[in-house]
Order: sequence, then structure tokens, then C-alpha cells
Amino acid sequence: MATENSFFAMVQHHMDRAAKVVNIPDYVLQILEEPKNELIVHFPVEMDNGRMHLFKGYRIQHNNILGPYKGGLRFHPETNLDDLKALATIMTLKCALMHIPFGGAKGGVKCDTLGLSRRELERVTRRFTHALGNNIGPEYDIPAPDVGTDARVMVWIMDTYMNTAGYSAKQMQSRVVTGKTVECGGSHFRDRATSQGLVHCLTQWAEDSRFDLEGKSVLIQGYGKVGAHAATILTKLGISLVGVGDHSGYRLNSEGFNTHHLKDWVAEHGSIEGFDYGENCSREAFFAAKADILIPAALHNQIRAEEARNLRVQLVIEGANGPVTTAGEAVCAERDIQIIPDILANSGGVTVSYYEWLQNGRQESWESQVVQDKLEQAMTAAYRRVKQAMAKHSCDMRTAAYALAIDRLNKVYEQRNIFP
Ligand code: NAD
Repeated sequence: MATENSFFAMVQHHMDRAAKVVNIPDYVLQILEEPKNELIVHFPVEMDNGRMHLFKGYRIQHNNILGPYKGGLRFHPETNLDDLKALATIMTLKCALMHIPFGGAKGGVKCDTLGLSRRELERVTRRFTHALGNNIGPEYDIPAPDVGTDARVMVWIMDTYMNTAGYSAKQMQSRVVTGKTVECGGSHFRDRATSQGLVHCLTQWAEDSRFDLEGKSVLIQGYGKVGAHAATILTKLGISLVGVGDHSGYRLNSEGFNTHHLKDWVAEHGSIEGFDYGENCSREAFFAAKADILIPAALHNQIRAEEARNLRVQLVIEGANGPVTTAGEAVCAERDIQIIPDILANSGGVTVSYYEWLQNGRQESWESQVVQDKLEQAMTAAYRRVKQAMAKHSCDMRTAAYALAIDRLNKVYEQRNIFP
């Protein structure tokens, strides 16, 4: 059972709040408030020193009424069931909001990737894939990258899965995962899709708010796949990165960081630690720094009431899933700090994952520009739908986004009814 402070309880709370706005029957809410399947596997891996280590892996399949289960794999030491249940639920809602014919799932392995060699990471990935067996599949449950996993990990999963499929069916299995390298069937632009999606939301917001983005500043927590690409895209719009943080610490630089150099530094050293520009600062000082925009792009539960009370930004765009707690959100509302919620803001990733899955199924490879245009159209349309729902229901953006998502799911339950 979820405790009051849990991430999963927070997502359930958001759903309850949205259900009041759109009037969802109790039975549908009950279905959506629990995952359909919760799978935990334990699997042994031989480490480089010859010793065997037993790992714990998860796959939570929240809902598949709209299509195959879909969601990332997180390799992180703090991965746990409660968080993955929350993240899987968020995926169902994100796909529903974006009109993508996928359900929601999330999974991962409890491990510290920083302490694993490349060969160990590959063995963990392949053994985990083997342990999942037919609980994933190209028409059933399709993983993607998340914290601690990347295109390389996706290719190992694809390869392991393909090699356990029957001989004649083998070539049809590559879309068991998305977020692969382009050479191995990944989509052009998937690597930047989540970040570009965030920026599309920002430009829509700026237009609505008559806010000139040129010359503005941003703080980014997390300089991984989402945070680093967001920073480099924003640089092109004339927005400077004045604060950055990751698992190794935080840095401020009122002159603005060179986002490309920092990205290269992190690619080489694994974190921002030791980067030679700006000043080290505490986590508290980072969240209290003056800037126009904050993009949390690391983990959930980062902006609690105490951080929210000190924020000196106008807008928070949720690159991460669940970065603002319910208490943090209440403080932001009181202080008139706006939030573009995760299920909208970071949905560019799953949107292009869907395009990748379509391309693999049709044995096509779309030009990068085609993908970028479709993504922009999808993000803009979703943003406008959420704005309309906000006006219609006189509610905040998260409630509007959740309301649209659960309303769509409810319509399908109403029409299909419960079997038998
Ligand atoms: P990543 O592994 O590439 O990067 C994670 C970043 O978070 C790293 O910079 C890491 O140092 C930092 N981090 C980890 N622990 C931290 C801590 N305790 N304090 C501060 N920073 C910490 O992961 P990513 O794919 O960039 O994902 C980041 C967030 O975006 C996650 O919440 C993920 O669910 C969400 N997201 C990712 C995608 C995607 O396409 N990758 C899509 C939608 C949402």
C-alpha cells in the first residue's frame, strides 16, 4: 500500500483531483489507480572479478486499453516498486493525452551503473531481458531508455530478444524496444525528442504569456539525455544556462555555461564534477538561484515545499517525471510560479518512440526533418488541447492534462465495457 509521501500516492492524488473535473465513474478510476501486472525478477550476473551477483529487476505494466504497454527502463540504485508504479501510471496518461495508441509501463534494474564496467552493464542488460522473456514483445510491451539506460542498452535488449525468437520471426522483433541507435533501427531525432518537446511547450507558453525568450536564463537539474539536449536547444534560442546540477553536485554561472562543452565534459567524465567554469554551490543555492525558467530533468520528488518556497523563477517545465511534490506544487501555485506538467512537457520522447515503432513495422526510415515536423505538430496540438481544457474546467495545467487523459481512457472503457 502506498504511503502518504510516496510518488505513487502523489500520482493517484493527481488522478483523483482530475476525476472530479471530468466525472469519471468509480470503477474506471479504480482500474486506473492500480497497475495490471507487477513483475519482479531476480537474475544472476557474472561480474568482471568472476563473482556472481544477484540483481533485482522490475516491469510494471499499468494499462493496455489503448495499445501495447510502453515505457522506459530505469537502471538506478534507488529503483523500487512504488516509484515504478507511479512512472508506469504516468506513461498510460501521457500516451492517452498525446493520442498515441500505446498503454503505460515502466521497469528497471536496481543497480548503480556508475559502478559497472561496460561488459558488466551489457551482461546485466542481456540477463534482465532474458529474465523478462515473453513479458515484453513488439506488440505487447515495448521498453525504451530512461535514467541510466541509453540507445546502446536498447540495442542489447533488441539483440537478446531477437536471438531468442523463432528463426522465421526473428527479423520482425526489432521494434521490441525503441530509442535504439539509428544504425540498428532507431528513429532519427529520438535522442533529442524529449528535450525538443519541452522546448515546443516552452515556445507555446511564451507566445501565450507574451514572454520574449531571447536573453532569458534557465536552471537545469540533471545533465543527462534530457537535460543536456534541452540546454543546447535553448542556447540556440538565446536562453543561457546559469545553473546546472546532477548526482555529483551543483554549479552556478551568471555569465552562462557553454552548453556544448559541458555536454562533451559529461560524456567523457560521467558527471558535471570538475567542469572548469562557474562556481560550485549547494543544492539549496541552486534551487534558490535567480533565473527565468527551471527545468528539473533528473528524478522525482525534487521540488518539495522547502525548495518551492525559495524558487526565483517564473516557470517550471517538468523534464523529469514527478519532480514537483504535491506540497511543492501548492507553494508554487501560491507564489504564482507556473508548471508545465510532465505528462505534457516530456511527452516528446514517447511520441518519437511511437514513430520509431511505426517505422520499424513498415520497414521505413524517415528523414530527420519529417520526424521533427511531426513532433512539433503533435506537441503543439497537445499543448493547445491542455490550454482549452484549463479554460473549460478553470483548473491548473496538470489537472487539465490529467483530465484529458483519463477522460479519453474512460471513453474507451465505456465503449468496450468489461469482459466478459
Ligand atoms: P539520464 O540517465 O540520461 O540522466 C539523468 C540525470 O539525472 C543525470 O544527469 C544524473 O546525474 C542526474 N541525477 C541522478 N540522480 C540525481 C540526484 N540524486 N540529484 C540530482 N541529479 C541526479 O536520464 P534521462 O533520460 O535524461 O531522464 C531524466 C528524467 O527525464 C527522468 O525523470 C526520466 O523519467 C525523464 N524522461 C526521460 C525521457 C527520455 O526520453 N529519456 C522521456 C521522458 C521523461
